Amino acid sequence: EESSEALQPIKVAETGSRFDQLWDISLRARIDEAMEAGEIYCVYQPKVDTARGAMVGVEALVRWHDPARGFIPPMHFIAQCEKAGRMEHLTRYVLQSACSAGRLMHFRGRNVTMSVNMSATLLGDLRIVGIVRNALQASGFDPRFLILEVTETSRIGDLATAATILEELKSLGVRISIDDFGCGAANFETFFELPFDELKIDRLFVSNLTTNAKAKAIASSIVSMGREARIMVTAEGAEDEETLRILNEIGCNYVQGYVLSRPISLTNLLKFQVSDGDSALEA
Ligand code: C2E
Ligand code: MG
Ligand code: MG
Ligand code: MG
Repeated sequence: EESSEALQPIKVAETGSRFDQLWDISLRARIDEAMEAGEIYCVYQPKVDTARGAMVGVEALVRWHDPARGFIPPMHFIAQCEKAGRMEHLTRYVLQSACSAGRLMHFRGRNVTMSVNMSATLLGDLRIVGIVRNALQASGFDPRFLILEVTETSRIGDLATAATILEELKSLGVRISIDDFGCGAANFETFFELPFDELKIDRLFVSNLTTNAKAKAIASSIVSMGREARIMVTAEGAEDEETLRILNEIGCNYVQGYVLSRPISLTNLLKFQVSDGDSALEA
């Protein structure tokens, strides 16, 4: 089957130019090598409890700096990683880096949670449980501080299977978060069926809070829903002080966004302090 697929003419209009396709194929071919060479690595974005002015968590975000091509946007190479069947491998790598970083933070007395993004495509197979367990054991990171953010929930094949796998993961002691809530298939049904501990309000609503009453209504309902269901709510993508003020007004104190800190290197994370003035702009 694979060889006959290879003989099909390339449908340029659907998938971009021939050049893009060749570029993507060579990108896919380099993924493993790039991980070994350290071209793929994590940066960390603080999650701040704005009520206390303290960093309570960190989200690991993967980066690829290719010496020849420069920075490759995560959304792009993650898609290529899926195509190459290397998603499990990438996730193992990110989990190991993130859990070690988390362990180091705890060792320095900074007991933050560590969030790791996990593609929903991995929720079709119990192998992910072993991968998470190994990363925890190898790093010695306390499982109760690891949060797995399920991204691209639209790609969950079967909710019942996903629920079983998430329960297995939770039995390791980790928490589960639904990323980009309110958008795409990160919807009420997914929320209802799966055992989430956190909702992350999609940036679409957060970035429009100051200018759009509907965005505020949506964000505010997500906060109430979280409170009622006893689930933590985090806003992502807060870019200015006015947004922080509205988030505070609607009762959402867990915030990530450029206004608090951009994603930063582990070295900078170890030094990170939440600024106290009203211009908490740079890390
Ligand atoms: P996400 O998990 O929703 O991560 C939030 C994205 O918003 C990050 O983009 C972050 O850099 C960006 N961001 C944070 N604060 C702000 C802000 O105030 N303004 C704006 N404009 N953007 C902000 P990034 O790093 O490009 O990642 C994009 C997506 O790629 C992530 O969205 C996640 O879905 C995926 N991703 C990143 N790392 C991994 C990973 O290790 N594994 C998997 N499966 N997916 C990952
Ligand atoms: Mg995320
Ligand atoms: Mg998100
Ligand atoms: Mg997002």
